[in-house]
Amino acid sequence: MPTLFEKIIAREIPAEIVYEDDLCLAFRDISAQAPVHVLLIPKKPIPRVGEATEEDQDLLGHLLLKVGVVAEQLGLKDTGFRIAVNHGKDGGETVPHMHIHLLGGRPLTWPPG
Ligand code: 5GP
Repeated sequence: MPTLFEKIIAREIPAEIVYEDDLCLAFRDISAQAPVHVLLIPKKPIPRVGEATEEDQDLLGHLLLKVGVVAEQLGLKDTGFRIAVNHGKDGGETVPHMHIHLLGGRPLTWPPG
C-alpha cells in the first residue's frame, strides 16, 4: 500500500513541488507552521529515519545537502531556518515515509513543544 508521500511522488496527489531530482522531492507542507514549510523526502520509501540502513548512507547525505539547496532557493539562507525529522509517536510522526521538515521565514522558538 503506497504511502501518501509515494502518491505525491507519483503525482497521484497534487502538491506544490519546489525541488526534485532523481533521489528526492521537496514540496510545501499542506499545513504550514511557518511562512516557509517544506517537506524534503527521499523517493525511496524509508518509513522513518531510525529505520534507515547502512545502504541508505549516501541517500541520507544527499538529503542533507539538498536542504541547503532548497533553503537557498526559498530565500532562507541569510535569515536562517530549522530542519526537523519526527520519528514515531512521541516524535510526532504522522506519515510513515521519512521526511525532513524545513521551516523558516519567522523566528523559531526553542525548545520545541
Ligand atoms: P509528520 O507529522 O509525520 O512529521 O509530518 C507530516 C507532515 O505532512 C505534516 O506536517 C502534514 O501537515 C503534512 N501533510 C499531511 N498530508 C499532506 C498532504 O496531503 N499534502 C502535503 N503537502 N502535506 C501533507
